[in-house]
Amino acid sequence: MTKENRQVDSWEYAPSLESTNHIHIKKRYELFINGEWVKPSSGKYFETINPANEEVISEIAHGNEEDIDRAVKAARKAYTEVWSVMPAAERAKYIYRIARLMHEQARELAVIETLDAGKTIRESRDIDVPLACNHFFYYAGWADKLAYAFPNRKVESLGVAGQIIPWNFPLLMAAWKIAPALAAGNTVVLKPAETTPLTALKLAEIIEASGLPPGVVNIVTGYGDTGAALVNHLDVDKIAFTGSTNVGKIIQKALAGTSKKLTLELGGKSANIIFDDAPIDQAVEGIINGIFFNQGHVCCAGSRLFVQENVAEKVISKLKERLKSLYLGDPLDKNTDVGAINSKNQLETIERYIQLGKNEGAEMYQPACVLPKKGFFCPPTLFTNVAQSSVIAQEEIFGPVLTIQTFRTIDEVIQKANNSPYGLAAGVWTEKGARIFNMANQLNAGVIWANTYNKFDPTSPFGGYKESGFGREGGVHGLAAYVKFI
Ligand code: NAP
Ligand code: MG
Repeated sequence: MTKENRQVDSWEYAPSLESTNHIHIKKRYELFINGEWVKPSSGKYFETINPANEEVISEIAHGNEEDIDRAVKAARKAYTEVWSVMPAAERAKYIYRIARLMHEQARELAVIETLDAGKTIRESRDIDVPLACNHFFYYAGWADKLAYAFPNRKVESLGVAGQIIPWNFPLLMAAWKIAPALAAGNTVVLKPAETTPLTALKLAEIIEASGLPPGVVNIVTGYGDTGAALVNHLDVDKIAFTGSTNVGKIIQKALAGTSKKLTLELGGKSANIIFDDAPIDQAVEGIINGIFFNQGHVCCAGSRLFVQENVAEKVISKLKERLKSLYLGDPLDKNTDVGAINSKNQLETIERYIQLGKNEGAEMYQPACVLPKKGFFCPPTLFTNVAQSSVIAQEEIFGPVLTIQTFRTIDEVIQKANNSPYGLAAGVWTEKGARIFNMANQLNAGVIWANTYNKFDPTSPFGGYKESGFGREGGVHGLAAYVKFI
């Protein structure tokens, strides 16, 4: 864990801090509407902080209903007069250009993501930013080939898409939303999360530099009320939302009876299932990657571990040993495995659940560690002796907290894994291919990983069942969410 208190006798890494001297962050960011940086009509700003040291990074404009209206009007005009009448191959060129500019600025984007969100530089550098670029590259390729994406069907763009994203993958979620919308010929108003607006605003700068016609992409920062104003705006044709199931339900109610299209990517409580014939060491790494990756701030985190009873002791003891060797601390240090929790609020939520788990009688394990004095940190936490009905096994915690249960038979684990209001993802670890297919057929989850976990690719659709939402992002399926079939 932190250098001073790691329990494993091993060599230490020297600190390896990623430099911040190459990044450009403004003291204050305005709203990006119609290709210009405009002041919010309320005149109000809020601060975005670095959750690893609680220092203020920038002031961010708080957009209100009036600003959303300005942005939607700009998006409508750009849609009608420019974007929808432009040859598709020309649209593709703009999307490629955005992808290339993101690529050029990858290092800066990664550092800013780490500063604003608290996630480790290793992750933002190796996962978030490359995947975000690749979404633009991938969808640029589809822009002039929609006829091949949907053979024998005629499709049209929808118009103006309102998009609302969460704080766990700020730039990546913006890319998941904007790239397919543009490729399908729509214009966009995007609302980033209030705690992590910076990389979406950097993306707005990139979009400006790309020469994309004004109004095609508008970025309006703010709080939940800004998102609600976008949802309720009468001239929006589609809402794409990624966030909590609670807010997803509010949005679905608000859109009931309207003609707006809706996709919801919501919460999860995904099962990671280890059979006794699994490669145990790899599975232990997969468990770590499944839940402690990004401090558990992953909608599809493998937060419920099911281990076959005859290997449970071995898996749990290896897991505990491995946790002792993880580095927790400054997310900008390239050695750090566990970074900061995204906000004080989220840390309090996680701590509440940990207390609840203890009260419920589950057994807790955390590797010994001293947390940094400043910033929001939570050690990786395991719970054993967890009942199926336990709140910590049922509700999404969205933090580095893993519940561990055992099973004997396939039927038992399928029943337990499916006993959840969510259905986003699952992992299956076994050497038997037939068992993997059998499990994949019976598990109610949108994504099922076999002998791996948390792997993403722009060509592969992602989305959930049940209270994890509906609609798919990524791949051809992700394009379908931004067209109408005529
Ligand atoms: P959240 O509270 O639902 O917020 C998501 C976004 O919606 C934020 O931009 C938020 O603004 C905005 N918002 C809040 N209230 C709103 C309202 N009434 N109307 C419209 N917009 C509103 O979720 P979060 O805490 O940021 O993110 C964590 C959740 O996202 C988890 O449940 C996680 O599982 C889910 N998630 C799902 C996926 C997926 O693909 N399935 C991916 C990532 C995350 P503020 O930031 O200002 O509150
Ligand atoms: Mg922040």
